[in-house]
Amino acid sequence: MFDTPQPARPGTLHIVATPIGNLRDISLRALDVLRTADLIAAEDTRASQTLLAAHGIRARLFALHEHNEAAAATRLVEALQAGKSVAYISDAGTPGISDPGARLVAAARAAGLPVSPIPGASAVTTTLSVAGMDAPWLFVGFLPARSAARHQALRDLAALPCALVFYEAPHRVEACVGDLLEVLGGERELLIARELTKRFEQIHACPLAAAPAWLAADEHHRRGEFVLVVSPPAPAAGGEDDVEARRILRILLEELPVRQAAHLAARLSGARKNALYDLALSMKKEE
Ligand code: SAM
Repeated sequence: MFDTPQPARPGTLHIVATPIGNLRDISLRALDVLRTADLIAAEDTRASQTLLAAHGIRARLFALHEHNEAAAATRLVEALQAGKSVAYISDAGTPGISDPGARLVAAARAAGLPVSPIPGASAVTTTLSVAGMDAPWLFVGFLPARSAARHQALRDLAALPCALVFYEAPHRVEACVGDLLEVLGGERELLIARELTKRFEQIHACPLAAAPAWLAADEHHRRGEFVLVVSPPAPAAGGEDDVEARRILRILLEELPVRQAAHLAARLSGARKNALYDLALSMKKEE
């Protein structure tokens, strides 16, 4: 029902999404739950007080963060078992998305307690909503901090036939983009979304090859919070499969038009016909 407030339910853990910048990006239902919950647990109690105060909510907050999640989860499960309604909020966006919350949810579910999502902002969906990209995507979150581990992680992801979505912090964004370029090549498109929903929000798209220059061009480009989206690899690109697909297509294209060649190549190789069609077209152009 739209017109009636929906208070927090007794004995239920509510996982509440909060804004990722703009304090007005919070749902009516999130406010209903936060106003009425017996207990609000928060990743950073000070940061969350600011949000709650902005919406006229006064509450004492219980801290649950990555360093105490297991012990704090046990206490919250006890409160839920005693019939209390509990809301959990992380620093920003949706709990459990590169944020604490998963252990708490698992503990509540293991105890047979109801867990209810109160949806709202997340940097990943906010970015994808303006990416203008109709492709499957994989949410990677933060890559490893060390370059060698980051390279390895990227090598494992490079050939996946989907877009890749990363979170990154300002002090690592240049190094991270440098590694994306090195491992994934310069041709894939990079969408850089920074400071979403905030005053200096910026969304910039360019080929990976041009991204380091864009970051270097202005110190503001390197400030704030980042989501990076790398477009999928070119159709059928990716190591041995690509070499084999090209070999088959080269032979078939000597005798057949593109559509028929792609059709037969798909039957021979088991690869997707549409991808082979695109590859055949690009090979024709290369000729
Ligand atoms: N739970 C959050 C969510 O649902 O998006 C993510 C928390 S994670 C600790 C913080 C990272 O999310 C930042 O380093 C950045 O990569 C991304 N992020 C959060 N807010 C953002 C914003 N306003 N603009 C761009 N990226 C943001």
